[in-house]
Amino acid sequence: MPHFLKVVETSEVSATAQVEQSLFSFLSVFPFRPSIPVSTREELSMTLDSRLVSLAAAGHKLVENGFVHGSGGNISLRWDELCYISPAGARLDRLTSADFVPLNVHTQNTWQLRRASGEHAMHLACYRARPDAATVLHVHPPNCVALGCAGLSIPAITPDFFLAVGSQTPLLPYLTPTTQELADAVAALIVDHDTVLLRNHGLVVVAESTESALSKVLVVEEAARIVLLAHAASGQCSALSAEEIKELERVTGKYHRRRKPETET
Ligand SMILES: [Zn+2]
Repeated sequence: MPHFLKVVETSEVSATAQVEQSLFSFLSVFPFRPSIPVSTREELSMTLDSRLVSLAAAGHKLVENGFVHGSGGNISLRWDELCYISPAGARLDRLTSADFVPLNVHTQNTWQLRRASGEHAMHLACYRARPDAATVLHVHPPNCVALGCAGLSIPAITPDFFLAVGSQTPLLPYLTPTTQELADAVAALIVDHDTVLLRNHGLVVVAESTESALSKVLVVEEAARIVLLAHAASGQCSALSAEEIKELERVTGKYHRRRKPETET
């Protein structure tokens, strides 16, 4: 039982009244409490559990692929008004579904004592900027970091990249990790892009699912490697032109992306 729900008998107030008062305080502090039927809540809870299991598995894969080492990187999912994020100092390859710390997306309130990742402001800012985002991954893939150190963003260099990620992965100037300044700057870019490079730091990805977010990390890291190779070979790297992208969209029959490419805006 949380400490603020503990009952202490006094001569003036009955135990029952104190419980009611404590409960009221508790519900006021956490306005995101579920107001759905118990049966539905249980069903949703099972789905949340399975999503957290998938997110923990994604953390393991990110480390296995060398996209982050040690206690670097942080991952989260959105569940209604809550963001479940990896804890501060956690190793992503040791995460279990029970480790994630819930935070209210808007108020940052939580009921857990465990500290959330230091980059929680960035994750919350992404969810606020992108109502369609269900997962946020932040990692340090070596080719992405190298490209950022070179001051280069990633344009749509292949059809696969455009269809999976969009018109580009823009590069954000260096900002100190864990700061609100970084969170706000990432949010401003993530509004129009699913992926953002952080100069001399890493990569941020948002997606409608954990599986999709993981796939975007793979695509962007591979593209970063190709851009580096192209620059090493010739000092440049060509991207798909606006006309080539338009034709690609015509052939695929629809927009695979949530937004139109920048070339048309
Ligand atoms: Zn980082």
